[in-house]
Amino acid sequence: MNHYTKNTKAFGTTAAENPLERLDIQRRAVLDNDVEIEILFCGICHSDLLSAKNEWYGTTYPIVPGHEIVGKVSKIGANVTKFKVGDLAGVGCMVDSCRTCDHCHDDLEQYCENGNTMTFNSTDKHLGGQTYGGYSERIVVDEHFVLQIPENLDLAATAPLLCAGITTYSPLRHWKVGPGQKVGVVGIGGLGHMAVKIAKAMGAEVLVLTTSVAKTEDAKRLGADEVVLSTNPEQMKKHAGSLHFILDAVSAPHDINSYLSLLKVDGTLVLVGAPMEPLPIVSFNLIMGRKSFAGSLIGGIAETQEMLDFCGKHNITADIELITIDQINDAYERLLKGDVRYRFVIDIASLKK
Ligand code: NAP
Ligand code: ZN
Ligand code: ZN
Repeated sequence: MNHYTKNTKAFGTTAAENPLERLDIQRRAVLDNDVEIEILFCGICHSDLLSAKNEWYGTTYPIVPGHEIVGKVSKIGANVTKFKVGDLAGVGCMVDSCRTCDHCHDDLEQYCENGNTMTFNSTDKHLGGQTYGGYSERIVVDEHFVLQIPENLDLAATAPLLCAGITTYSPLRHWKVGPGQKVGVVGIGGLGHMAVKIAKAMGAEVLVLTTSVAKTEDAKRLGADEVVLSTNPEQMKKHAGSLHFILDAVSAPHDINSYLSLLKVDGTLVLVGAPMEPLPIVSFNLIMGRKSFAGSLIGGIAETQEMLDFCGKHNITADIELITIDQINDAYERLLKGDVRYRFVIDIASLKK
């Protein structure tokens, strides 16, 4: 147990029914393998909102959400080799894992057999209690879980790559999406809009499937080749049996069967969106066409670095609305209504004031 800590301003909540408010938390003193980061920007993921409201997997309060973190290195431990003070650095959804199981050895820390430590609301091995996320002034993380940020990208718009970017990049890579393939993206929020940009940069043809009329007009600007209003059965029918791959990033319960019918033979639909309610599947929607229905969780640390380098090379960032810390509760309300283009990012300078 490390007893040396630094008082740190944060924003979070003490109960599911309460709004987010100013809290003070402790960060551990820098250990030999640690990097301390002064946070500059933190994205707001739909998972932050669900966790704050205890609609995810069991929240322990107080909670400080935030796992799309970018900032500057302010201190390094004696063994740190990847970073020096002043470097840009990022932290995503995980801050530790066992490092010894087969999945950790295979750079799949997100599937650690012994349970990884998530950036917020996981057991904090060092201080006891819970880990606290990026709605805070600073964070201290083992260097293995700290990412290098390309210098050429707008920093605030890079923050969402740490969750929305990797969560969409990883399945697109795993299922080998590329030229000659037609890919559908369902749900154009934080994750979905990143999927459109990344799939396009990988060389695929991209079909956007949205429930929002306003987004049908914007999808081509994001890089979509075609757009479908998914509430319109006529438009959906035109694309039946046409897609090799579908990435579903919808946050709420929805009818998955209408999307499965858009897959070609041997096509795959991957869920990254995580509504808590079960999704009923009509068996013949899979059987007729040997289709696969799968899921995917964020991505490993090496793959997250690969994604950041890919985005640096292709000049890909999120489309963001930059907010101050006192706008956070309004931002949560708007996120619930799907009213964001396409990711809120908090300017952490407003928390330091
Ligand atoms: P978001 O920005 O709120 O976007 C969700 C999108 O889903 C909305 O923009 C909307 O797109 C669509 N949608 C919302 N309600 C809908 C409804 N009732 N029916 C149909 N479509 C609806 O959320 P996000 O941050 O991108 O996260 C998306 C989901 O991924 C969440 O469930 C989140 O918890 C989960 N997540 C999973 C992982 C993972 O590792 N698998 C990682 C991060 C987040 P349209 O307006 O285009 O229809
Ligand atoms: Zn997230
Ligand atoms: Zn492990």
